[in-house]
Amino acid sequence: MNKLIQEKDCKKETCVVVMSGGQDSTTCLGIAVELFKRVAVVTFTYGQKHGVEVFCANEIVKEVEEKFNTSIEQHVINVDALRQIGNSALIAGDEQDDVTKEHAQKEGLPASYVPNRNATFLTLAHALAQKLEAGYIMTGVCQTDYSGYPDCRREFIEALETALNLGSESDIKITTPLMNVDKAYTFKLAEEYDVLDIVLQKSHTCYEGDHNTENEWGFGCGKCPSCELRAKGWAEFLERY
Ligand SMILES: [Zn+2]
Repeated sequence: MNKLIQEKDCKKETCVVVMSGGQDSTTCLGIAVELFKRVAVVTFTYGQKHGVEVFCANEIVKEVEEKFNTSIEQHVINVDALRQIGNSALIAGDEQDDVTKEHAQKEGLPASYVPNRNATFLTLAHALAQKLEAGYIMTGVCQTDYSGYPDCRREFIEALETALNLGSESDIKITTPLMNVDKAYTFKLAEEYDVLDIVLQKSHTCYEGDHNTENEWGFGCGKCPSCELRAKGWAEFLERY
């Protein structure tokens, strides 16, 4: 399991987990609680349509604290600039409102692409990590099953890590344990780190913000690209493991 994060001695370190309230970040939180001495989470609000995910993030943190008898410092940061710029079907009130379509400017990318979202989140998480003297930031970005978002690729994350550390004379590692795994294996990891129940009952990934429809793989509309990916991953998880 520790091969997910090969570096310094995690047990002495603080880790800032970027927490969206979804399957991937919930799994990351389970991993971080197991591997690090101290864990803080940061959740960003940016006018996302599925505002329910912020509520879920709070619930997930509470559940994890209770289950693992630990204390997690929680930060919620408002990034209104992303909402003002908009240009994504994930942002409420935006001109692009159909997640199944192509992005208006970015040929080949889905309308759910939010320009520079991960750069913004990770820049702010890095600032918070400096304040908390954290050696690590953990994010659930994944280039395997991803929706084609270029800011989820390893190349980009590594370049950003280098730039942020150069600009702050820091040595903070951005760790991405899910980078090369698929959704089925993410379910498997959640099981290994004992957060599968929390993933299924509390996490939210649906692009339509549906947190009422219950499925065996968790809550969601079952029809949007994000739900389809999650349902497919669940079916493969049951078949494979
Ligand atoms: Zn959905």
